[in-house]
Amino acid sequence: MQIEILGCSGGIGGAHRTTAVRVDDDILLDCGTGVGDLDEAALARIRHVFLSHPHMDHVACLPLLVDTLFNQLQDSPLIVHAVPGCLDILRSDIFNWRIWPDFLTLPDRDRPVMRFEPMEPGMSLEVDGRRIEMLPVRHTVPAAGFRIEQGGAAFAYSGDCTTNDELWAALNAHDRLDLLMVECAFGDDEEALARRSGHYCPGLLAADLEKLVHRPRIGVTHFKPGEESRVLEELMARMPDRELHRLRSGDVFRL
Ligand SMILES: [Zn+2]
Ligand SMILES: [Zn+2]
Repeated sequence: MQIEILGCSGGIGGAHRTTAVRVDDDILLDCGTGVGDLDEAALARIRHVFLSHPHMDHVACLPLLVDTLFNQLQDSPLIVHAVPGCLDILRSDIFNWRIWPDFLTLPDRDRPVMRFEPMEPGMSLEVDGRRIEMLPVRHTVPAAGFRIEQGGAAFAYSGDCTTNDELWAALNAHDRLDLLMVECAFGDDEEALARRSGHYCPGLLAADLEKLVHRPRIGVTHFKPGEESRVLEELMARMPDRELHRLRSGDVFRL
């Protein structure tokens, strides 16, 4: 399985792209602005989008993606997987004929170019040999993370998340985790804001990683542009024995 970081920043500008991860060439985890860097042929190969939650930095390119691929998708719709609350928000607040057309009913209701597939934490499904499990997380809106396993190797993605027990218990329920992509949107000076906005800061993340029995490589994401080095230093000071990396657009991992 190949995992390619298309975007993992908390903001835009210059080389910054918001969150999107491509698994092989047919699956996206989130659909932030990083998706816009794929060429048309690569966009056309995407069959499944697993959304962590409906915040703009994670869904910004979804409306444009389905519009761009409108002709190709008439044979085989784009399938969007997320918790029911996330799908409800997308339906009512984006695909509502005001912000964007309702592609769930286009070109007609029986044969749409986009389909929503509700999923709950703990559920998993198999997509051509890759087992994708939805993980429980805690954020300010209905949200989830994902764990993807193929041939024994496993990758997990937190989406946006603040301190909780459930995510770590779900990961500990498996006997392997090779790579973890986890957010840390704020520095320690903004712990109160991190808690209120449902994000991690280094202190909260270091405490929660104590709950994880595995020792994966850890790619940290969702830094605000300009704060990457400072927050990464805070993380490394708290967890000198963990293998921490700052993820960047263009990073590729093969598991
Ligand atoms: Zn969010
Ligand atoms: Zn976010």
